[in-house]
Amino acid sequence: MILAKIRVKGVVQGVGFRPFIYNLATSLELRGFVLNDSEGVYIEIEANSKAKIDNFKEKIYLKAPKLAEIESIELELETQKPKFSNFQIRESRNLDIKDVAIPLDSAICPKCLSELKNQKNRRYNYPFINCIECGVRYSIIENMPYDRERTSMREFEMCSECESEYSEPLDRRFHAQPISCPNCGPKLKLFNSNLESFENLTQFETIERVVRELKEGSIVAIKGYGGFNLISKIEQVEKMRERKKRKKKPFALMFKDLKTLKRYAKPTLEEERVLSSKEAPILLLPKLNQKLDSVAPNIDRVGCYLAYSPLHYLILREFDEPLISTSANISSNPIIRDIQSFKELKIADYILDFNREILNPSDDSILSYVGDRFLKLRDARGYSPKSFKLPKKVKKNILAVGSNQKSSIAIAFEDRVIKSPYIGDLNSIQTLEYFKDMIETLKRVYNFRAEVVVCDKHSRYESSKFAKSLNLETIEIQHHFAHTLSVVGEHKIESKVLSFVFDGTGFGDDGNLWGGEVFIADKRGFERIYHFDYFKLLGGEVAIKNPERILASLAFDIGKEEILRDFMSDSKIKTLKQIYLKNLNSPLTSSVGRIFDLIAYLLKLIDRVSFDGESGVKLESLYQDSISDSYNFRLNQNIIEFKESLSQMVDDSKEPKLLFSKFINSLIEVILKISKEYPNYPIVLSGGVFQNRALMEQIIFKFKELNLEFYLNERVPLNDEGISFGQIFGAIEC
Ligand code: ZN
Ligand code: ZN
Ligand code: FE
Repeated sequence: MILAKIRVKGVVQGVGFRPFIYNLATSLELRGFVLNDSEGVYIEIEANSKAKIDNFKEKIYLKAPKLAEIESIELELETQKPKFSNFQIRESRNLDIKDVAIPLDSAICPKCLSELKNQKNRRYNYPFINCIECGVRYSIIENMPYDRERTSMREFEMCSECESEYSEPLDRRFHAQPISCPNCGPKLKLFNSNLESFENLTQFETIERVVRELKEGSIVAIKGYGGFNLISKIEQVEKMRERKKRKKKPFALMFKDLKTLKRYAKPTLEEERVLSSKEAPILLLPKLNQKLDSVAPNIDRVGCYLAYSPLHYLILREFDEPLISTSANISSNPIIRDIQSFKELKIADYILDFNREILNPSDDSILSYVGDRFLKLRDARGYSPKSFKLPKKVKKNILAVGSNQKSSIAIAFEDRVIKSPYIGDLNSIQTLEYFKDMIETLKRVYNFRAEVVVCDKHSRYESSKFAKSLNLETIEIQHHFAHTLSVVGEHKIESKVLSFVFDGTGFGDDGNLWGGEVFIADKRGFERIYHFDYFKLLGGEVAIKNPERILASLAFDIGKEEILRDFMSDSKIKTLKQIYLKNLNSPLTSSVGRIFDLIAYLLKLIDRVSFDGESGVKLESLYQDSISDSYNFRLNQNIIEFKESLSQMVDDSKEPKLLFSKFINSLIEVILKISKEYPNYPIVLSGGVFQNRALMEQIIFKFKELNLEFYLNERVPLNDEGISFGQIFGAIEC
């Protein structure tokens, strides 16, 4: 007999892999066993010919379960006497070395959805229905390998019916770790804002009550996979803004199904596929309905997603319209995962809780289809933490602590990099705690110990301060270099690249605030070949929030302060001039993000910047491809000169479409001119500014037309959430 030892790596735990192997082996009449261990799935089978083994291996690739992602299958053959009498699923083993991908939370599957609606099914209307192809995973995992006893489902003892489904290889709940039913699973409980519970409601009455309260105008916090969401009717949007202390930023909408969604927004077929995918992210889609203007004011798109959990579905199905759905927290704090947090925060009228603990919180993910591909704007539920394979092993274990505002972390060990889900703004004390928890989680789950820590060069980032407190070998990576490396790493580019990083502000090597950068770079380092001309941020941070100060600063630079009289009082001009002349807290910046703010300000779309990226989203719909004019941005030495166009821009501001289209065309021209000057390098684009749909669509279009080789972030966001991933590659050679 030939004995085959087979090792399968990738996302292979918690996705029905062992039952799949069991069924495959028994159908091929092969004997042996399968088990989960710390590296993935391990199989031994015996057969009387090599062909049978090859056939088995091929079928693993061909027929693997939907949620599985096979990275590799290694095969080792030995000859021996027959030793197995059947095929078995064995206990997990080797729990100490961790080299396996964490299974991710997955939206309710069509089979479970139809059982949920089927009166005859024993899980009819059961809010925690799941199977091997759907349900919570990551958010309930305490440790790997993924088995019920290492999740927050261990509190719930299976009833005999669930037990028999769990252990029946032909059942679609065979080894579905969170399996449960109305007899044995978690229970809903409704609370009012004083956290007093409603004791006399049955499970279904609880849901009915929530629906009634929502219909009557309440804001209800509903526990989802990775945290609580605040849900309300659209009519309650102002109340929601007040409670969340979120003045202008758009909210996302949740729909019961695609049919309802299509009455409010206009997805393409490709977008419909992603909306209905197991990841079920929020997608930014063109608005169809004016009713949505209050939800996403002055933006022509709105974030939409489908009810992803059975509980959400049971509530949403009672509405023929979308509901506002936003993470339960005060702006910039982390998503709430336990009911106690509502004690002090009176943000919800009612709270729908249940007694299965969320061990690893995560936000909803956000994607947007731009040009010819999906870009990630936020990488969380359904998508991360996902393991990324490196071409070779790292010499030391690396922890990368990321940026500050849209933070995330990443770790590297062996031949993998793992980026955490979105964390958020580290200037919030609670978010900083969440950041530290996230590090502990990844350390525990992957049995990881950092030998090197990588941080941003900005010493005032909370992440940098934290990195230095670890007393480990520390490597600082310049912000825009990290953006560049996030693309280089993702696409495994070995050659030097020509990188355009258009961004907010990040600390530069010369002490100025960079953000309009062109590099020739590879993993070892970069040369700054061009940057946008420096201008002063009058008052530092204040200028980032107040674009009038950008206008003033540029007007002073070119000696045309008369421009300012249409925009501000003489006394204000005078004050700003003093700041300008005396250089009072006025760092220099080359940020393209700030120029976008200026344009939005000239068009009176914003007065103050109330959320990151606001100008970009408010401007993007103004672009007209029939306008081919541009401003004369010049390349001089290594400077991209743009200031001389200011008067022209102010003149054009009476025609918003003209101003914005000319501005985008100017940026495209700059990129193309420089690309022509350095023809032999693959082009890389990164930085938050490229989230602007008009800019990204146009540049992708041009690159394709000119047949240029270009790369951008797809796996991680191109905003600062991707920084941690990039930082890893700056330290990887050490
Ligand atoms: Zn299912
Ligand atoms: Zn049960
Ligand atoms: Fe950045």
